[in-house]
Amino acid sequence: MRFKSLGSGSTGNATVVESTAHGHTSRLLIDCGFGIRQLDQRLALAGLCTADLDAVFITHEHADHIGCVRQLAVRAQLPVWMSQGTRSALNTTDIDPWLCLARDGEPLGVGGLQVTPFTVPHDAREPLQLTCTDGLATFGVLTDLGHITAHVTQHLQACHTLLLECNHDPVLVAQSAYPPFLKQRITGRLGHLANEEAASLLKSLRSGPLRQVVAAHLSLQNNTPELARQALVDALGSAPCTITLADAASGTGWITVSP
Ligand SMILES: [Zn+2]
Ligand SMILES: [Zn+2]
Repeated sequence: MRFKSLGSGSTGNATVVESTAHGHTSRLLIDCGFGIRQLDQRLALAGLCTADLDAVFITHEHADHIGCVRQLAVRAQLPVWMSQGTRSALNTTDIDPWLCLARDGEPLGVGGLQVTPFTVPHDAREPLQLTCTDGLATFGVLTDLGHITAHVTQHLQACHTLLLECNHDPVLVAQSAYPPFLKQRITGRLGHLANEEAASLLKSLRSGPLRQVVAAHLSLQNNTPELARQALVDALGSAPCTITLADAASGTGWITVSP
């Protein structure tokens, strides 16, 4: 199994996960928070087009995650997985012919990939994040949450690789020119994960099978790659785990997930 972030941050998120287990290629797009032309361009850089995808999973209704999902579903005739809450937040029936409802803790299949969604605390209607496994290795995606819960930690125990939100440094948020309501939203219990909160999650996972972390959804205004990386380095200590950063513009290269 391998994955590639096509871009990660408040301007748009999308990640392709690909499994070639059992001699069959399966590809899931997790979020499509770009316009359709941008998505086409970013997929082309990954050597793919929308016809190569088997399904889309939308984590929640915020624009940087849902982007062009309607156009994509119509064009590629793809199953679109999302929660009932996300569906109702869309306020449209356009998506219904392709809609598949995802629920907390209920595994779903996309070809050779098994996906398990789980609930996270975020200011959306019914946000879900997820793990994917091909039966050999497990990849976790965790962005857009205000704080770590026992439920979240429990769902990530088996991950070999984790795409993890390192959204902000609270000092930079406090010093920013953002209006008070926005500062409160970002740092609140239903906002986004600070570097130190991502680090505390890693401390609880570092004695398990985790071998790779990809820092994601970094704020361009309220974080720096150096601060995010240092927080994760400090949390991992001597644990045998590599750290990569996902870029807002270019995402990551293809990253293999191995047990
Ligand atoms: Zn987001
Ligand atoms: Zn969000």
